[in-house]
Amino acid sequence: MCRVIAVANQKGGVSKTTTSINLGVGLVRAGKKVALVDADPQGHLTMGLGFPKNVRVTLKNMMENIIMGVEFDPKDAVLSHKEGVDVIPSNKLLTGMDMSLLTVEDREMVLKEYLELLEADYDYIIVDCMPSLGMLTINALSAAHSVLIPVQPQYYAADGLMELLKVVKGIKQRFNPKLEIEGILFTMDSSRYNNSKRNKQAVKNAYGDEMRIFEDSIPRSEALAETASEGVSIFSYDIRSKGAESYKKLAQEVLNHA
Ligand code: ATP
Ligand code: MG
Repeated sequence: MCRVIAVANQKGGVSKTTTSINLGVGLVRAGKKVALVDADPQGHLTMGLGFPKNVRVTLKNMMENIIMGVEFDPKDAVLSHKEGVDVIPSNKLLTGMDMSLLTVEDREMVLKEYLELLEADYDYIIVDCMPSLGMLTINALSAAHSVLIPVQPQYYAADGLMELLKVVKGIKQRFNPKLEIEGILFTMDSSRYNNSKRNKQAVKNAYGDEMRIFEDSIPRSEALAETASEGVSIFSYDIRSKGAESYKKLAQEVLNHA
């Protein structure tokens, strides 16, 4: 059975896209069939895997087909990356979708309807969300079995989480009763700083009893920052790096959960 994981945090730059890519490729390396969905008009996941900005068929076209109720091939948008992961790309043309969804019937369910057409082909579908809690993110949370939340261990991290968890709870009540929290993942962690340790502890104290907090955090690493411009995952870029090791462990933890 296919498991849909939304990678979400309305805070910008916390490593959602980097985590989507490297978790996805980590799962492929463990023998799973994986699709990555770029649900962000910034198109960073698309570009970060080396695909062009002006790619012809995107997630936007797929969602429009669902909205209009026309017949279409759901695989039209699927691109294949050389590391074995499939990608449903996006670019800035997706920007209007947040607004146009507002007038659509069952507007929260459009992405879910699309992903259901793909589920037979994959073990995991990972949705990289944009840094907002708008309609696209609500669609991702409505479509997902679980939400994975990357958090940078900064002072205000626990505050931002509260807002996100409220939205997750709302979606669970109204649209997606089975939605689970996959876990909180600390990213860009400089564990040698006491300050980072304190902030992680604050999040653990606030949420550790209610949800999984992944054992291993993702370190801040030059290699991980450089992968985007190379269009590959950390596993291709530097298999021996700490970053590769930590994303391998994350993939393993996610597999153990299923
Ligand atoms: P946005 O909210 O804009 O979608 P995001 O949450 O998807 O951002 P990323 O794009 O993955 O975050 O990461 C933000 C920046 O930090 C990027 O330049 C990325 O290369 C870099 N980065 C991500 N993870 C790490 C890391 N572990 N160590 C160092 N740099 C990182
Ligand atoms: Mg991103």
